Amino acid sequence: MSLNVVKGILIKSVDYKESDKIITLLTFENGRVTAIAKGVRKKGAKLSYASQLLFCGDFELLQSHNRLILTGANSNIDLSGLSNNLKRYYFAAHYIDIAQSIIMEEQSEPSIMKLLLNTLYILSKGKIDEKLLTILYEYRMVMLNGFAPITTQCVICGNHGLDMKLSVEHGGVVCCSAGMTISKDTIKVIDIITTCSDKELFTLRVNEGVLKELYFTSRKYIEGVFDRQFTLAEQGLKYE
Ligand SMILES: [Zn+2]
Repeated sequence: MSLNVVKGILIKSVDYKESDKIITLLTFENGRVTAIAKGVRKKGAKLSYASQLLFCGDFELLQSHNRLILTGANSNIDLSGLSNNLKRYYFAAHYIDIAQSIIMEEQSEPSIMKLLLNTLYILSKGKIDEKLLTILYEYRMVMLNGFAPITTQCVICGNHGLDMKLSVEHGGVVCCSAGMTISKDTIKVIDIITTCSDKELFTLRVNEGVLKELYFTSRKYIEGVFDRQFTLAEQGLKYE
């Protein structure tokens, strides 16, 4: 038997047996981790607080036979601002959905974890418009996975045309092929999002026109990169 402490966030919690829960964590050290939280559905259980969705902090896990058992937990980021605001909660679920499609078991992805937790924290405080935050998160996530769109010149012919479109298929801006309509200002912002420092990322602000283009393109782009659809739009959070 060995004891491990991992830092992360609880992203899934399913009832198990009479009073247990099976919890899924995204962690800095070991990627996606599944563990059993014993007896946490009993009234007054010591660890019930740590088996709640979006609990974020240090988890103490005991390896016993082939499974991990939650034996302790310590919260170090307060994300309670997400559970009591439905709109923010949907955005949080979307950010987690993206991260968990990237982070696998036994796979340490510290940059992705850091971006996820920073973004959730800012979302919980309500300091940045949710749509802008989503754009920053999505384009940054694409960048961290090595798919930042090329914005400096046409990906196909190398020209610096005036009328550029954004092509998911070609991985950047194009002048001589089909793509999404996008303004020069928006292209510049994508370039900043995918090259600036972590600290600068969340200080970025854009005007309404750019925001609209970014919100539309970032979803299409991330769906193209990961080859799947994300359901945020269906939850009533389409850009009006
Ligand atoms: Zn071209």
